[in-house]
Amino acid sequence: MDLRTDQPHSARMYDYYLGGKDNFPADREAAEDALAVFPSARVMARENREFMARATRYLAGEVGVRQFLDIGTGIPTSPNLHEVAQGIAADTRVVYADNDPIVLTHARALLTSTPQGRTAYLDADLRDPERIMTAPELQSTLDLTEPVALSVIAILHFVPDDADPYGIVRRLLEALPSGSYLALTHATADLDPAAGQMAEKYREQGITAVERSHAQITSFFAGLELVDPGVQVAHRWRPDDPTAADLTDAQVSIYAGLGRKP
Ligand code: SAH
Repeated sequence: MDLRTDQPHSARMYDYYLGGKDNFPADREAAEDALAVFPSARVMARENREFMARATRYLAGEVGVRQFLDIGTGIPTSPNLHEVAQGIAADTRVVYADNDPIVLTHARALLTSTPQGRTAYLDADLRDPERIMTAPELQSTLDLTEPVALSVIAILHFVPDDADPYGIVRRLLEALPSGSYLALTHATADLDPAAGQMAEKYREQGITAVERSHAQITSFFAGLELVDPGVQVAHRWRPDDPTAADLTDAQVSIYAGLGRKP
């Protein structure tokens, strides 16, 4: 397997922001370049990860969703989505998917399901939703006649418009029944132009990063019922840590939302 450690990868740069150890010099250099223009990238990454956990707890706890499809999983970072969900309902089933070989090499850390539940890992690309939905690992893990929470957290800002990100999300949701959910976060330059410069740094490194506006990000929820409080800067979405209120929107610069398929 070729990890291309000479080139920065978004998963490993994100791991670096979160204080992980699964990154290489090229990733750290590119991440430091991004931090030089957008110094709160670490705050953005942490608040994004916190939203993932809160949205998952809401879905598993308050809604009672028992199946998750998490695309753009990232390098395993404790707690992982299945740990959060299975901590609430041990019989939860989770399918993870990512297209980065480094994530595949760590997939074992994601395959630590409770005996009552199940987890599976797919080495797959978001841009091929049909392949994801028809993969045998997914078909044998999820029951597509029952609600599924589709989680696309901090991935769609790597999908440029010419790859049809809205069509991709629509096709994934079409394969899921009523009562399914979309959990999404997406970086924005609305709140701090420096976040746009950060995306520029990614593009200079050959990573197709694109910031979108609040209106553009809200459009991913077309046809869904937005859960309160709608599309918000991540730390403002159902916060449970009072110190998150001390953060500014500019520091966080990533929108988050949850929608229900009627
Ligand atoms: N969802 C996690 C990780 C976000 S980092 C979290 O929010 O904590 C973004 C992840 O998306 C990386 O692991 C990267 O490899 C993955 N990714 C980017 N483009 C992708 C694509 N087209 N298909 C699948 N995964 C992709």
